[in-house]
Amino acid sequence: MKKLVFVTGGVCSSLGKGIAASSIGALMEARGFTVRMVKIDPYLNVDAGTMSPYQHGEVYVTDDGAETDLDLGNYGRFTSAPLSRANSITTGQVYKAVIEKERAGDFLGKTVQVIPHITDEIKRRILVVAESPDVDITIVEIGGTVGDMESIPFLEAARQLIHEFGRQNAISVHVTLVPSVSGGEIKTKPTQHAVKELQEVGIQPDVLILRSKQPLEEGIRRKISSFTNVEFEGVISGYDAPTIYEVPLIFFQQKLDSFILKKMNVESRHAELGIWKQVVNTVKNPAHQVRIGIVGKYMELHDAYKSVWEALYHGGIANDAGVELVKIDSGLLEHADANLGELFAGIDGILVPGGFGERGIEGMIKAAQYAREHGIPYFGICLGMQIMVIEYARNVLGRKDAHSSEFSKTTSYPVVALLEEQIDVKAYGGTMRLGASESVIKAGTFMHKAYGKDRILERHRHRYEVANEKRAELQEKGLIIAATTPDGSLVEACEWPGHLWSVGVQYHPEFKSRPTKAHPLFKAFIAASLERHAKA
Ligand code: GLN
Repeated sequence: MKKLVFVTGGVCSSLGKGIAASSIGALMEARGFTVRMVKIDPYLNVDAGTMSPYQHGEVYVTDDGAETDLDLGNYGRFTSAPLSRANSITTGQVYKAVIEKERAGDFLGKTVQVIPHITDEIKRRILVVAESPDVDITIVEIGGTVGDMESIPFLEAARQLIHEFGRQNAISVHVTLVPSVSGGEIKTKPTQHAVKELQEVGIQPDVLILRSKQPLEEGIRRKISSFTNVEFEGVISGYDAPTIYEVPLIFFQQKLDSFILKKMNVESRHAELGIWKQVVNTVKNPAHQVRIGIVGKYMELHDAYKSVWEALYHGGIANDAGVELVKIDSGLLEHADANLGELFAGIDGILVPGGFGERGIEGMIKAAQYAREHGIPYFGICLGMQIMVIEYARNVLGRKDAHSSEFSKTTSYPVVALLEEQIDVKAYGGTMRLGASESVIKAGTFMHKAYGKDRILERHRHRYEVANEKRAELQEKGLIIAATTPDGSLVEACEWPGHLWSVGVQYHPEFKSRPTKAHPLFKAFIAASLERHAKA
């Protein structure tokens, strides 16, 4: 069985196509089908790695080291579909591949054109995933809005695949907006136009997911059905949910999954949704409450640390706790008259996330110091671990000038630095330690207790490392090296001695956390923060 589901968006962007696609994936998995997810991004960047978080939110990293769009993070949270380089397609990748073939003379004198050469390359990439062994259903989300110039070749490729597979094997799901104007009147016109636009490129949607604030009445759905040639059962009300993890259940109640299976001629199977119901129940009625302070840059930009926020919520779910996120711009801590006691009042745990560039670093160092000196659980992720080490060198070793050579070229104590062999590399793309690699955990650490095992695989995305020649002095003064690479050559994690809970990791655990299975470190961090809360 090889089935394709294309998910597109109309009217405007940011309607939650990624959550819709992920929720369909979750429902298909709940019915026992093997699912794959593909994201298409119509920008010219080859990957998301060189984009600022201000441009496109978080960069999500896969096991094989691809730097992708944050929607892959949603796929990873909602489904167990494996994610790799193959699951993220950008215009840049497609054109690069075609132009490289042209330069190599592979087109044998032909004129190389968008149709068929670009569209063929897009189809080939989709099929590499969809036709891999044992896959039942592949969900392909096409980024952008139908009507944008950039997405035209991708829509044409989708149209061709629907035609070639046949409409019983490949379907179209279109996500649109149904706004209400002053007085509360519901407007269907934008959706009607959005569907026309999709029909103009030769795609008749099979399913419409109508985004709105409130659930839509049957009358509105019937009206939209009659104007768009979409069967009434395929017109789904995708109203705002208190938590994104409720979306699969909202779709299920409206029998979206059964409808999709019927459309694709697939015999339905029992749906096992107990675990999603449990997640939603805990999110809505948690037994406990905890407040986590996150100290970093880009705090005003919700999407920049998307996976960190979600992983914290997952840690809450695993502890039957609601998690309140208090986002603190590290710059605030740098003011001469900053009152840290006030800023951290009522905070049960402090997290310093990943980041690049010098701005805000001193504030993060102050946050780590505050956590260490006040017995507050501390979780440092990537840059957050480096901060932990710099702070320790300055305030415990007394190396007042300690720094990372990323932020100070003149420091007399570069406790975080590039490895010798990295120093001459000038290019930006492709110079980082990227993707999954193995670490070995030291017995008796918080790390070991959280994971319950000695060896782990976690994803990296960084250039700098704890300087090995400083390791002995740090350890002498108590810093615990809680994990290293298997050969011991790189520090992967550290902890403060005698602290309620503190872990800094050089990798990004947030990418592997799921609502149905919180990452062990996030679970342990929230548990420690709850313990602190109970004492405070
Ligand atoms: N800027 C640091 C480095 O490159 C940390 C990177 C990160 O937090 N992802 O090593």
